[in-house]
Amino acid sequence: MRKSAKSSSPIWLLGLAGQPAKRIRLAAGEDLDVRRFDVRDTPSQTDYDRADPLVVFLDVPAWRSLQAAPPAWFKTARKVLVASDGDLPGHDEVLAGGFLACLAPPLAKARIVAAIKAARDTAGVFEDIAKLLGEAQRERDHMAQENGRLAFFQHMLARAMSTLDLAQILACLREDLGLAFPVSEVLGVFWGLSAESEIFLPDGLSVQAKAARTDYLLDLASRLRGAPPSSYRTHPVPGGDESAPAEPGRALLVPLRVEDKPFGCLSVLIHRDLAKHEQETAREALNQLAPCVKHSLDYLLLKRRADRDGLTGLYNRRSFDARLDQELKRHIRHKEGFVLLMADLDHFKAVNDTHGHLAGDAALKHAAHALESGLRSSDFLARYGGEEFAVILPHTGQSQAWMLAERLRRRVSSITLRYAGRMIPLTISIGMTGFAPGQAATPASLVAQADQALYAAKLAGRNRVSIAASREDAREAAQAGSLMAG
Ligand code: GH3
Ligand code: MG
Ligand code: MG
Repeated sequence: MRKSAKSSSPIWLLGLAGQPAKRIRLAAGEDLDVRRFDVRDTPSQTDYDRADPLVVFLDVPAWRSLQAAPPAWFKTARKVLVASDGDLPGHDEVLAGGFLACLAPPLAKARIVAAIKAARDTAGVFEDIAKLLGEAQRERDHMAQENGRLAFFQHMLARAMSTLDLAQILACLREDLGLAFPVSEVLGVFWGLSAESEIFLPDGLSVQAKAARTDYLLDLASRLRGAPPSSYRTHPVPGGDESAPAEPGRALLVPLRVEDKPFGCLSVLIHRDLAKHEQETAREALNQLAPCVKHSLDYLLLKRRADRDGLTGLYNRRSFDARLDQELKRHIRHKEGFVLLMADLDHFKAVNDTHGHLAGDAALKHAAHALESGLRSSDFLARYGGEEFAVILPHTGQSQAWMLAERLRRRVSSITLRYAGRMIPLTISIGMTGFAPGQAATPASLVAQADQALYAAKLAGRNRVSIAASREDAREAAQAGSLMAG
């Protein structure tokens, strides 16, 4: 595109010398720089681009000698032909040569000035056209950018809306934002009406990195809500790198709101500082997702209320029934064994009678916590009803299960529970049954067997584990258990 012709652009004279050159210098005045070249020193394209002359005056001999091999700039330059008496080209020839004007002698000052003005006007028109073209191009670029942004938002929104699983949404976010920015992790902390927080962390991180991010997110939640969370639950997000640095590092924080009420915060960990426009795009994209994230959070909290027991926070009977059915089918399919435990607090009625119902509730929570902390993450613990608990131990043989049940029993009996200044002793009886591959079993038959074993444990004096199995199996399991425990 042509550079703008400033008033400082020079005038070039090509071939012209003597009187005509002098007259042109005079007419151009002090403000314009006039430079003269011989035809054999015709300026190159680079000279032309650098100087950007306002107009080139040349005489007929110079023009004729250039016609054989004109420099590239000659075609587009603003030029005026200066004829002499003996060599006046025809009108058509001047037009075909692309000249602004042809000055014939006498070379009056007014005509030279008029030719310079015509050159300046032409340059002005060029400048206006260039400006218009530039604006149109910028507008096109802007629209292309805007279209790209909209497509990006739409893609993110569509992916986020395709699931109700908040962990999955955060995993998609990391992938999608990663297309535009150098994102390493997307962390989230959310809350509902209660003072509890839900923390979302990549599951592949090291223990130290998880701990540092948990503190970081709890701190964020405290600051945004104005009070620390009473408790929190951690949810694994697929992804994450074991070698990630322990400290979270650079982050883009995006507090999320719906109807002006804050309900959480996303922290996008990034490898480098984002430019302002990048930050704005990322924030805008994440803010657009706020209603979708809130929806998934509500679903998560609602589902927990439906799946969990209000007093202990353990899975409830409904969840247990569903899980037992699932596990039995899964183990039949994979030809693997698992174990079911039914546990019941001993003489619990007496706890209520002696210490009151509130003390009984506290004891139930303590027992639930003792059981929960004695299990592996793959085990499934539920409050079956009243002071009864059920445990599914997947992929577990009888002897291993026996040791686990014994450990649970000991944990409950070792709780020192104090209520209103008085000690409340707690013990638990456990009935155990196993499913072996090839065995005919239903969820109901397994529960009935475990219940029978529990009844036997109660009859045998309580605070013990009893196995529902053939006598040999039971003896073998007990022996193996005591050998291994010893
Ligand atoms: P056993 O050793 O034979 O199991 O005797 P037990 O007293 O534990 O058994 P029983 O079935 O007679 O009594 C169970 C008691 O558990 C009665 C009930 O009030 C109490 N219980 C059940 N659910 C709750 C609860 O949510 N809170 C409180 N405080 N008590 C509960
Ligand atoms: Mg009981
Ligand atoms: Mg009972």
